[in-house]
Parts: sequence; C-alpha cells; structure tokens
Amino acid sequence: VRCDGLVRIYRSRETEVVALRDVDLVVDPGESVALLGPSGAGKSTLLWLMAGLMRPSAGRLRVHGVDLGRLAPRALDRLRAAEIGVVLQNPARNLIPYATPAQNIAFAQRAGRAARGRGWPGRRERDRAAELLERVSLGGPVARTRAGRMSGGEQQRLAVAVALANRPRLLLADEPTSQLDAASGRAVIELIKETAAETGATVVVVTHDPAVGAALDRTVTIRDGRVGAEGRHGEDFVVV
Ligand code: ADP
Ligand code: ADP
Repeated sequence: VRCDGLVRIYRSRETEVVALRDVDLVVDPGESVALLGPSGAGKSTLLWLMAGLMRPSAGRLRVHGVDLGRLAPRALDRLRAAEIGVVLQNPARNLIPYATPAQNIAFAQRAGRAARGRGWPGRRERDRAAELLERVSLGGPVARTRAGRMSGGEQQRLAVAVALANRPRLLLADEPTSQLDAASGRAVIELIKETAAETGATVVVVTHDPAVGAALDRTVTIRDGRVGAEGRHGEDFVVV
C-alpha cells in the first residue's frame, strides 16, 4: 500500500472537513501495521480509502501497484472482492443480518470467487468456513443464529472471519477488537496474524488498544490528518 500526498475532504453545502491533508505512507507486502491516533484524526478515512470504499480528493493511493483513484468502478469492485478483506468499525455493517454465520462467509466466498472468474465455492471453501467459525468461537449453537441477532462481540468476530474468508492479499480492520474481552481480542489478532503469515497478506489495523499495536509489526500515528505529525490547525493546506 503506497499513499503519496493523500488528501480526503468531506464536503457538504455548508461545511468542508479536511479529514486527511497530506498522507505519505508505505506499507510493505506482508507487513502488519497498527494505525493509532486520537478520535477524529482520520484513521477510519484512511482505511476507507485503502479499501476502495471512497476515492481520494487528491494525491495517489496504490494497492499492489494499482492506482485505486483511477480504477474504473467495476474493476475496483472486482479488486475489492478478490483481494481486499475489510472489517468496518460498526460490526453489523459488515454482515448480512438475515443470514447465519456460515451463510455470511459463503456469500463472501462466492463474491471472491466470482471476482476471480472462478465457479461456485466447493468443499474446500466449506471446510475453510467451518475452520474460521471455530477459530472465532462461533462453531456452537450460535452458528444457527442470524447475524443480526448476535451480540456486538459475536458480530465483530464474525466480521473478521468474513474478511479472512477469501484469504485476501490486503486485510483492513477498523477497531476489530473494540467489543471483545482481552482474551477474545488476542485470539482475533492471533488469527489475523496467522492467516497473514500463511498467505503473505498485508495488514492494516486501526486500534486504540496498545496490546493490538504491540502484536503487529509497526505502529503509525495519525494526527490531524497527517502521519506522525503534531496536531496543527490553520490554513496551511491546499483545498483541492
Ligand atoms: P472514531 O473513529 O473516532 O470512533 P468514527 O470514525 O466512527 O469515529 O466517526 C467519526 C465521525 O465521522 C462521526 O461523526 C461519524 O458519524 C462520522 N463518519 C465516519 N465515517 C462515516 C461515513 N462513512 N459516513 C458518514 N459519516 C461518517
Ligand atoms: P478517526 O477514525 O481517526 O476517528 P475519521 O476518519 O473517522 O477519524 O474522521 C476524520 C474527520 O473527518 C473527523 O473530523 C470526522 O468528523 C470527519 N468525517 C469522517 N467521515 C465523515 C463524513 N462522511 N462526512 C463528514 N465528515 C466526516
């Protein structure tokens, strides 16, 4: 992941919020990075941009050499389904509420395979789904519950399993342990690290938890829309 002078501005009729003002950041293939910083610093915005869920206002963002800002919508969809796993901050938003955990994973697997030009998921995918559900402790009776009826912590663990279902080359997670107790949080980070080690995936995790930061390769601080910068206010940025 390579960000060069990345800018993201949220505009409405009356207001303009510069969420990211000039982000230069390189995350190497296979590297795992924790994004830390105060609330409102721009961490979630950076994650959404890396996930291809919104476009930069200026600057360049490349994932595996592909410039996400210039990619056609369908190509972007395909890249996201095939290669990027995302855990959004609100766990429920990652899930299909009327589907069971296994169905949620199967749906992601179908989308991923379709994006790779492959057919329906088979035995291997079903085994992988079952294994993932075990790993996030959703293998028991809860496996028959619709995702929308599960607790926040269960939804969060399922969201991680769904994000890992396609063995993505890039895993992006926004506070994936915020609703978990310390032990489940550790288990989730372990699962992410193990999967990344197996697949060579690059990992970026937004977190407030120092233990999560310590478990990853590197910590990057975001402050006031910049990497590692001190909180600065004023008009020392260009509005594009
Ligand atoms: P934090 O990361 O500090 O917990 P959030 O990222 O959830 O905070 O949100 C910061 C603010 O930006 C909130 O007011 C939230 O409602 C808003 N926000 C964040 N992401 C979006 C989005 N995709 N669409 C609309 N509003 C958003
Ligand atoms: P963090 O994740 O570090 O808390 P965010 O990326 O959520 O930061 O937000 C950065 C800034 O952009 C904040 O001032 C937030 O209120 C604002 N913001 C985020 N999403 C939106 C949105 N969809 N519309 C308007 N402002 C937003």
